[in-house]
Amino acid sequence: MKLERTKTRVVGVDISGERTTFAVVDIRGNIIAEDYISTYDYADVNEFVAALAEKIVMLVEANGGYETIRSVGVSAPSASFKLGSIVNAANLPWKGVIPLAAMLRDRLGLAVAVANDAHISALGEKTYGCAHGMKDFIVINIGVGLGSCFFSDGHEHLGDEGYAGEIGHTCVVPVDGRLCGCGKHGCLEAYTAAKGIVKTAEQLMAESDAPSLMRQMEKLSPRTIKECCDQGDEMAIEVYRRVGYMLGIGLANYASVVNPEAIVFTGGISKAGKWLFDPTRQAFEDNVFRNMQGKVKMLVSEFNDRERDVLGASALAWVVPEYSLFK
Ligand SMILES: [Zn+2]
Repeated sequence: MKLERTKTRVVGVDISGERTTFAVVDIRGNIIAEDYISTYDYADVNEFVAALAEKIVMLVEANGGYETIRSVGVSAPSASFKLGSIVNAANLPWKGVIPLAAMLRDRLGLAVAVANDAHISALGEKTYGCAHGMKDFIVINIGVGLGSCFFSDGHEHLGDEGYAGEIGHTCVVPVDGRLCGCGKHGCLEAYTAAKGIVKTAEQLMAESDAPSLMRQMEKLSPRTIKECCDQGDEMAIEVYRRVGYMLGIGLANYASVVNPEAIVFTGGISKAGKWLFDPTRQAFEDNVFRNMQGKVKMLVSEFNDRERDVLGASALAWVVPEYSLFK
């Protein structure tokens, strides 16, 4: 009798503007080995994929061998799981449509699935994080941008081409709204992601001559504004009050459509803590559909973002049909 060799590991890859992390992960979500390359070293995407594939092979060969790997999952900004491609990523060096799943599959001889970072964060939270066991939930990622993904009845809702969940680019200020990175005006992201928070701080400082620690800051950022809040700075607290107000309204609209058990926050801005989430909760409860008032949990991810995205990418890898030149 011939014994079938069982493939008990996958590779999870997390591509961000700064670095690309990849790891060999076992079926229980243990990271066996991890390495990275610098994304911005590769202006040409073909060179990037070649270097990434070479490094993945090296990592795999040094940690159990190719024959133990079932498949590969990749997290990338502006990626579509349905298209297997990165499409018009604002924060990556490569423009247009990049058929990354096919490019990497051809190099590695393994099945490759690609999904956007919000989708991957949600998968990571469901598989290994605080959404474990939930069927209906929203994951909101607040950082440079405002991304999201939601699960409905246990499954991620991706939409026709895989772009579902773009809550950051829904309009909250229809008249004289701020210009958003996407080219539209008045998007939620323009008020609640990193640049928008700094802009609100600048506007508040311009509105009055009131003293504020923020005026002495060499560089304003969501983190330094939060530090001013921690020291009791009233104007900094007002910054997050305004940000939370916008976020709460946006999420109330979102939740009223989706009816989630919980909203899970990830990303750097979620570290602003009560300064952001108290006003967010207030505006949320004031605006959400009445039957959902007081029922939607708001949770902050306990994961380190990079670890979660590598694990989320590995969870995605288990979803693709197996394909290998190395059976
Ligand atoms: Zn936008």
